[in-house]
Amino acid sequence: MKLDATDLRYVTSDEFRVLTSVEMGSKNHEVVPTVLIAQISGLRNGGVNKIIGSLAKRNLVSRVQNSKYDGYRLTYGGYDYLAMRAMSKRDTMHSVGNQIGVGKESDIYIVADAEGREMVLKLHRLGRISFRAIKEKRDYLGKRKSASWMYMSRLAAQKEWAFMKVLHEHGFPVPRPIDQARHCILMEFIDAYPLRQIAEVPSPGKLYSTLMDIIVRFAQAGLIHGDFNEFNILIRRESGEPIVIDFPQMVSTSHENAEWYFNRDVECIRTFFKRRFQYESALFPRFRKVIAEEQDSDRETFRLDVVVAASGFRRKDMKVLEEYMEAVQTEEEGGEREEEEEDEEEEDDEDEDEEGSERGDDDESEAEGKTKTKNTPIDGGETTTR
Ligand code: ADP
Ligand code: MG
Repeated sequence: MKLDATDLRYVTSDEFRVLTSVEMGSKNHEVVPTVLIAQISGLRNGGVNKIIGSLAKRNLVSRVQNSKYDGYRLTYGGYDYLAMRAMSKRDTMHSVGNQIGVGKESDIYIVADAEGREMVLKLHRLGRISFRAIKEKRDYLGKRKSASWMYMSRLAAQKEWAFMKVLHEHGFPVPRPIDQARHCILMEFIDAYPLRQIAEVPSPGKLYSTLMDIIVRFAQAGLIHGDFNEFNILIRRESGEPIVIDFPQMVSTSHENAEWYFNRDVECIRTFFKRRFQYESALFPRFRKVIAEEQDSDRETFRLDVVVAASGFRRKDMKVLEEYMEAVQTEEEGGEREEEEEDEEEEDDEDEDEEGSERGDDDESEAEGKTKTKNTPIDGGETTTR
């Protein structure tokens, strides 16, 4: 989805008020009745209709007519706007540039502060699935029939933020977290290539052990990344240093399936190094050994899973997200298993093509694109807040 920041400048204070009313109304309504929007905003009915029409025209809300009543839903565009506006009011973010990533469940943009310093904005986009799998047994949804994409996306951002913060504070190689609002995270821009795009490294053995060390350090601190693979490891262009990203699925080493998650992280690295660098090592970390050694040692390590739990990201929220992620995974496995074998060969070919062009023209233009970005101010000052 495009973030049209040019348009976003022209949101008046009344429009902003109506937009936040739609957001507030969505806490209890999938479709917020127009009368309720008028009530929450405190504006007269006629005035609201006009304003909401103009918000709908810009795709910040969308109209839904059902048999019972007329109403509106906040769109992703509207939610994006509210989050970016919050950051811009806090002066953490000033303008939006190019999109650099489209994940399955996120969009990544280069943005800048008022001085033009580049940062990365990650917008979480959860909610592709219907939540059928999780909604029945849970009461957290209250009266609503389904967990909203807004709620799930915000949880993912809050969790990622909580983890990124403690990891950064404790010296792990992760991007510096800058701000968080609603479903968005603002963080340091890492000038890097994902490991996935790297054809050669000076010393695969050295990188391999650095990465395994990170997995071990995570576990010593009570954490497992849970998606530690070549897509979520960035290799700094200048120094070759690995930086780990993408934390919404992190789990504690006390999690019931901790060992399984840990082994999967380790296995991802081993497999990738075999395939890409023909590097194999008999040395790799074992979960029980790491945990046992940590318990025996006199070293004072912080249990970061405990720190996160105490940071305000509630255990209940963690559980909700986890169930969502499990449901997504189950759904994907159901649909993809049959195609897997055929894909395997194709994927190898793909890899080779990519490796051929590595660090060639493509990458350069991509890297250039990042810096050439023409940034558009989000909030040009036309808007007043209440
Ligand atoms: P997803 O959850 O969709 O996988 P990620 O957090 O892994 O999202 O980010 C997707 C991609 O965006 C990464 O593979 C990387 O190329 C780019 N990216 C994310 N964060 C940064 C960052 N801080 N600096 C530079 N590139 C980033
Ligand atoms: Mg990722």
